Amino acid sequence: MSNILSPGKTIGILGGGQLGRMMAIAAKAMGFRIAVLEPKTDSPAGQAADIEVEAAYDDREGAKELAKHCDVLTYEFENIDAPTAAFLEETLYLPQGGSLLYTTQHRIREKNAIEEAGVHVSPYRSVDSKVSLNHALEELGRPAVLKTCQGGYDGKGQVVIKEDTNAGKAFETLNGNEKDLVLESWVPFEKEISVIVTRSTNGEISTFPVGENIHENNILHQTIVPARITSGTEKKARDIAYQLAEKLELTGTLAVEMFVLEDGDIYVNELAPRPHNSGHYTIEACETSQFEQHIRAICGWPLGSTNLLKPVVMTNLLGQHLSYVYDNVESFSKNGHLHVYGKDEAKHGRKMGHWTVLGTDIEEALTKTNYVWEKQTSLINK
Ligand code: AMP
Repeated sequence: MSNILSPGKTIGILGGGQLGRMMAIAAKAMGFRIAVLEPKTDSPAGQAADIEVEAAYDDREGAKELAKHCDVLTYEFENIDAPTAAFLEETLYLPQGGSLLYTTQHRIREKNAIEEAGVHVSPYRSVDSKVSLNHALEELGRPAVLKTCQGGYDGKGQVVIKEDTNAGKAFETLNGNEKDLVLESWVPFEKEISVIVTRSTNGEISTFPVGENIHENNILHQTIVPARITSGTEKKARDIAYQLAEKLELTGTLAVEMFVLEDGDIYVNELAPRPHNSGHYTIEACETSQFEQHIRAICGWPLGSTNLLKPVVMTNLLGQHLSYVYDNVESFSKNGHLHVYGKDEAKHGRKMGHWTVLGTDIEEALTKTNYVWEKQTSLINK
């Protein structure tokens, strides 16, 4: 088939973070060469690349330089502005296209697209003034969550509006006069889960096993797989991800974050059109990792099996955890697989690496995780 890219070709990655690094490592194992565009050299992805192009993400000259080296382009973060994405689509082979990127860059566009695909989201209203916020609060009730439509991540750019919250202040905190906002009903979820779905340039679709996600201070702390949900909910979640991939005409990888309610109903919280932190467990625990699958998808290769080989617990290693990890490399590596991203500065809350622990069942993987993690929790300045 003509659209299959053979080993030896060069894949360009826009963005130099850990997702790009893990894509690069998977792609290199498959025989591809890697070029990374990032404003600074020696980035996590740059360290794993053959070629580093040092340029801003929206720098046309940088993109042209990248184009000179690459046979196919992908991205590892979603905040590429629309004109740059259009430019890249014109000048380079970007099989993922710019359209889904555009949809997922704005929460209201994203929610509309999810609903049009026949999938539930929490009830929401667009907010562009304090008056419209009060109106939305009357309709949706409290508690509710006010979010910026663009640029928020890890709980940044959102305020929970409780019974006693001053809504006007929340509007100002999020700079509602300048920014588009959305008010969402509070979802009394039982669990947060996610599914990574991949669709290749040939239209083949695969979903990975459902991850159960535990957040701490709004940052992903752990992903547990299999998720502790019923088999019916597991199937429903994977079906939703599959349906979204088809309806949104995905090419590449999409992470679908969901809330599971007490009655088993599922609401989609948000989408990320790229490999995702909650899919890092796949590197050791699945027959094919999310990164290899992404490379297969954009290179037109058949998708690999997503079978879970072993139950697994993935724990994120943040800036404040790193010295403890370095002091205890032996216990971390004895009990699991340590991944460190090669970032220069271990800032508080910054994702520096992750640690994957396999078990014969979830209990064993959790026990091994907690043995290393909790032993010194008091030393870790959270
Ligand atoms: P987000 O940035 O939209 O992924 O939100 C970050 C976290 O805030 C989620 O992982 C949830 O734990 C929580 N959250 C966000 N929106 C809602 C909601 N509508 N109801 C309940 N919790 C929410």
